[in-house]
Amino acid sequence: MERPLTQHMRKDREPLSIDDYERAGGYQALRRALQEMSRSEINQEVLDANLRGRGGAGFPTGAKWASVPTGDHWPSERFFVADADEMEPGTFKDRMLLEGNPHQFLEGLIIGSYAVDAAKAFIFIRWEYKLAAQRLRTAIQEAHARGYIGERILGTDFSLDVHLHVSAGRYICGEASALLSSLEGGRAVPRAKPPREAESGLWGKPTVLDNVETLVNVPHIIKNGAAWFKGLSLCNDGGTKIYGVSGRVKNPGLWELPMGTNLREIIEDHAGGMRDGFKLRAVIPGGASTEFLMADEIDIPMDFDTVQKAGSRFGTANVIVLDDRTCPVGVVANLIRFFAQESCGWCTPCREGLPWLREILDDIEHGRGREEDLDILQSHTRLLWLGHTFCALAPGAMEPLKSALKHFRDDFERHVKDGRCPWR
Ligand code: SF4
Repeated sequence: MERPLTQHMRKDREPLSIDDYERAGGYQALRRALQEMSRSEINQEVLDANLRGRGGAGFPTGAKWASVPTGDHWPSERFFVADADEMEPGTFKDRMLLEGNPHQFLEGLIIGSYAVDAAKAFIFIRWEYKLAAQRLRTAIQEAHARGYIGERILGTDFSLDVHLHVSAGRYICGEASALLSSLEGGRAVPRAKPPREAESGLWGKPTVLDNVETLVNVPHIIKNGAAWFKGLSLCNDGGTKIYGVSGRVKNPGLWELPMGTNLREIIEDHAGGMRDGFKLRAVIPGGASTEFLMADEIDIPMDFDTVQKAGSRFGTANVIVLDDRTCPVGVVANLIRFFAQESCGWCTPCREGLPWLREILDDIEHGRGREEDLDILQSHTRLLWLGHTFCALAPGAMEPLKSALKHFRDDFERHVKDGRCPWR
């Protein structure tokens, strides 16, 4: 099984030096892209590879790059932004990719910037990722010294500045326009759309934003071709995926596997199955803002379309496992606590609704819940749904709550009836 993204990472968790990376074939894709390919050929190769964004939304990367408008009536200055603000509870894949092989990520960022003709690239990294930021700083200096960043890269007309921006750390910065507002020095709140970021992004200029894991795939596509990339996968989406599992499994962690690997196989074979004394009850498949799938629903390929058909979302494909000895009400209360804290406060339903839900869930969890509270929770899964709020944060927060009310209704009712949490 090929594992292009992780095959050269060191077992001692030290980062790959630029010498090691070059010895392993690193920066050859950049050379090929700049010296042998036109921008439209790069876009087409990435489009043909069917690389879908790994930040959660799954938008085709090649289509995003190709949507940047060209022509005299559009600004010639463009920006490329890498989103390294990984903050989805249960998700830690980008951190591993940045810490283990920062040059692989940089190479993808430089090729992406070239493909959309951006002369400035920003890496927006969450401030808690101190080690990743430190390793990126070193990698940027090394790449600069070897002529991969800076003026006239590899003797071509293409020049690129790369800036590392350490964010103040808000979950809303996972929303592209809020990230750009923050990068401009403003309050991190989403912007109305249209216009799309590709037309009017950072400082009103065309801007492309991509997730870290998305970008690390790019050098491999350029080096080996779209057909090879599609061949890595077990489904229609190209490539491999960094799957993760957390919770009471024997071996929590991250694995690079073919896109479309069976979800049960990821949990039982790669994560080692449940710890002794625990049974698998349900999973949140794609990070905290996705719906629960029950234990009998996980014999499915983990890919964007299949997980959606099963009633949840692929998201970041970092799975949170719920066992039979953990209170599902407590789990959901914990998640809503997080989302309420991270609401940017811009629109009323989310700003006021999430803290109210947090209080109701805290009451239920601690035995102070009332029967009518369940109806209030249920009605809010509609009131905070898509179309009622300015961005997708609140609807995302409703996904685990909505599915918990469906699958764990008995648990909620027992808390209210007994006046205590049965797991305490
Ligand atoms: Fe901000 Fe509204 Fe989005 Fe919540 S839903 S994060 S308040 S814009």
